Amino acid sequence: MLIPRRESIINDKYIHQVISGLREEDDFWVREILAKARELKGLNQSDMLGLMTIQSEPLLHELFAAARYVKDEIYGKRLVIFAPMYVSNLCHNECTYCAFRAKNKSIQRRSLSQDEIAAETLKLTECGHKRVLLVAGEAYPKQGFQYILDAIDTVYRSKSGNGEIRRINVNVAPLTENEFEQLKERKIGTYQLFQETYNRNIYGKVHLAGKKADYQWRLSAIDRALNAGLNDVGIGVLFGLGDWRYELLALKSHIEYLERRFGIGPHTISVPRLEPADGSVIASAPPFPIDDMTFQKIVAILRLSVPYTGIIMSTRETPHLRRESFALGVSQISAGSRTNPGGYSEADTGNGAQFSLGDHRSLDEVVKDVASLGYVPSFCTGCYRLGRVGADFMDMARPGLIKRHCDPNGVSTFLEYLNDFASPETREVGMKCIEQALAGMDETPKRVAETLLRQVNEGKRDIYC
Ligand code: SAM
Ligand code: SF4
Repeated sequence: MLIPRRESIINDKYIHQVISGLREEDDFWVREILAKARELKGLNQSDMLGLMTIQSEPLLHELFAAARYVKDEIYGKRLVIFAPMYVSNLCHNECTYCAFRAKNKSIQRRSLSQDEIAAETLKLTECGHKRVLLVAGEAYPKQGFQYILDAIDTVYRSKSGNGEIRRINVNVAPLTENEFEQLKERKIGTYQLFQETYNRNIYGKVHLAGKKADYQWRLSAIDRALNAGLNDVGIGVLFGLGDWRYELLALKSHIEYLERRFGIGPHTISVPRLEPADGSVIASAPPFPIDDMTFQKIVAILRLSVPYTGIIMSTRETPHLRRESFALGVSQISAGSRTNPGGYSEADTGNGAQFSLGDHRSLDEVVKDVASLGYVPSFCTGCYRLGRVGADFMDMARPGLIKRHCDPNGVSTFLEYLNDFASPETREVGMKCIEQALAGMDETPKRVAETLLRQVNEGKRDIYC
C-alpha cells in the first residue's frame, strides 16, 4: 500500500488559517454553533474553533448542557466498562513520556507467559469484566508478533463459570497490513492507536528512537488497519504534549480523511492526559498542561463534533473528574485497572507500571458509583457479536438509533453483573438504577429490555438485541 502523504490526512494549512481566526468569545456565534450541534450532525473545524473560545461561566454551562443532550440522545444512560490488560512492557522505542521506553532502567521488564495471561484473564472475569483492552510495548518476546496473536487466543479461551471475556480490543504499535489481517482473523473488537501529537515538530522531539520515531508510519497505520479489513478503529491524542486546540482540529481532520477515504470514522476516540511515569521528566511537567476545566471542554467539544463516536476515559483520571465527564460525553471507561503486566493476579507492587493511575477503586466500587449517578454500567458486547460493526454501526449511531439496542443490552448485561459478581451494596444501588433506566426508556426498547431482564433472572447469559 502507498503511504498516504501527511497533507492529505491533516489539513495543516487550513487548521492554521482557522486558528489564526481565533478571537474573543462571541455569544451569538457560540449559540449558533450549539444549536447546530443539537441537530446531531456533528461540527466542522471552524465550529470547533468557535467553541474553543468559550471562557465565561454561562456559555460553558450551555456547552456542557449541549454535550449532555447529545450524549443522552445517542447513547442514552449507558456507560461501557472495560479493563486494560498489559501483557508486556518490553519496548525498543524511546518515547520520553513513557515508563516503558527502552532506556528506562528503573522498571522491571517482563512479558507474561500464556499461562500468566490466562491467570490475569481469570482474575478479571472473576470480578465481572467482559471487555479487555490488550496493551503491549513495541517489542515482543522471541515469538515476535505471534506472541500478541497467542495472547488474544488465550484471553478468549480462559473462562470459568459465568466469567468470560467477550470482546478484546487491542492497543499495540502500528502493524503491517499483513499483520492487521492476522489480527482480524483473531476476531478482535477495536484496534486502537493514538497519534500522541499530530504536531510533527513536537512528535520528533518526544519520540527519540525506534520505529515510533517515524511519524508517517504511525499516522498511516489506521489506513493499513482498514485496508486489511478491520471494522472498528480507535484514535486519540495524548493531551499535554502540544496545544490542545491544534490537536483537536488535527484529530478532526484525520477523522474527515477516514470518512472520505473509507466511508467510516473511528469507532472510538481516547483522551489520555499525560500522567507521571517512572523515569520520565516530561510526564510530570507537560509542556502544554491541561487543567480540569479545559479537559472537560475538550470532551464536550469532541462529543458535539463527532456525536456518533465513542469517547473513552481511562483510570488515568481521578474519580471526581471521571464523574463530571460522564455527563459531558464520555461513553466508555476503564475500571479497576492495573498498568503493569501481571498486576491483576499478583501482589501489586506497581513496579513495571506504565504511568500513575488517578482512580484506584475496584470494579465493584466504580460500578456502584456510576449506578448511583444514574448511569447504567454496561458490559454489552452485542454489536460486535451480531456483526453490527464498522459502517453498519455508524449508520445506526448517526441518527441516534443505536440507543434502541444500547438501552436494553445495557441493563441486561448490568443485571448479569449484579446477579453474578456484585457486592450486596452494589446490587442494591444497581437494582434501583435499572428501575430508573427502565422508567426513562421509550416503549419498544423498554419491552425488549424487560424480556432480556427476565431471561437473565431465569439464568440465561450473553443475550442481546
Ligand atoms: N506501545 C504502543 C504504542 O505506543 O502505541 C501501545 C501501548 S502504549 C503503552 C499505549 C498508550 O499509552 C500510548 O499510545 C500513550 O498515549 C499512552 N501513554 C504513554 N505514556 C503515558 C503517560 N505518561 N501518561 C498517560 N498516557 C501515557
Ligand atoms: Fe513503548 Fe508505547 Fe511506551 Fe512508546 S508509548 S515507550 S512505544 S510502550
